Amino acid sequence: MKGAKTAAGIPDVVEVRLPDAEAVFAARAERFRELAHGSALGEYLRACAALAEAQGEALAAGAEAGWRGALETILGAMGRVPLPAEAREAVGRLGGFSGEELEAAADRILAGDYAGADLPHAPFIGAALQAVWTARAGGVGIPEGKGARDCCPVCASAPVAGVVAGDIGVRHLVCSLCATEWYLPRLCCSACGSTEAMTYLALEGGAAGVKAECCDRCRTYLKLFYRESAPGAEPFADDAATVALDIRTAGEGYARAGANIYLLPGP
Ligand SMILES: [Zn+2]
Ligand SMILES: [Zn+2]
Repeated sequence: MKGAKTAAGIPDVVEVRLPDAEAVFAARAERFRELAHGSALGEYLRACAALAEAQGEALAAGAEAGWRGALETILGAMGRVPLPAEAREAVGRLGGFSGEELEAAADRILAGDYAGADLPHAPFIGAALQAVWTARAGGVGIPEGKGARDCCPVCASAPVAGVVAGDIGVRHLVCSLCATEWYLPRLCCSACGSTEAMTYLALEGGAAGVKAECCDRCRTYLKLFYRESAPGAEPFADDAATVALDIRTAGEGYARAGANIYLLPGP
């Protein structure tokens, strides 16, 4: 039925799109740089750009090295760029971690179960995990069967954001770990499946083409980027650059549905 039209006139949508890892990190780094221009968050966004570039280098270093090999490449690259003091210290500390300590921290980060002590390290460990999972996701076939609504069909992680595209507004969610995209009809909460009360929050005078879709049943939210009004949006970079919307949404009592490693520990 690919390309066919249903009775309602809605074209058949692509259910799952697998990432091209090299293209993903190159586009992300470029978008972070673009967003950094003239932004009050410029220093932070440029550090994120360097991190995405380092992830690209980690891919080139080869898949056999595993995530700790990727981390080594990333820490080496981040040692050569300007970083905020806290991030610089975290890079230094991570270099001294034992394999066991690194594995334990990675387990906590993958489980979304990290607080205090892990926060400064989470962007770097998360970046290494993303690099290997994104490369891996690009090489698997499209998973068979109907995937879950709330998590990635490849790696089961939560979505970082949603992207709405085309004139009828088809929505795909983007995996926070491996960047695989999966289809979810609009007006449906990705976390609990509710199609009832949704609140859409945007920032007045803020970036065009972004809204937080807030579920009044489970009190979580997911940012949506609209390609029509924000054609250059990249879910991870634009999410990090619109942190003001997270602050407003948190103020209304909603919690994020999925993490973004570039938003930790936060600007
Ligand atoms: Zn995934
Ligand atoms: Zn919900």
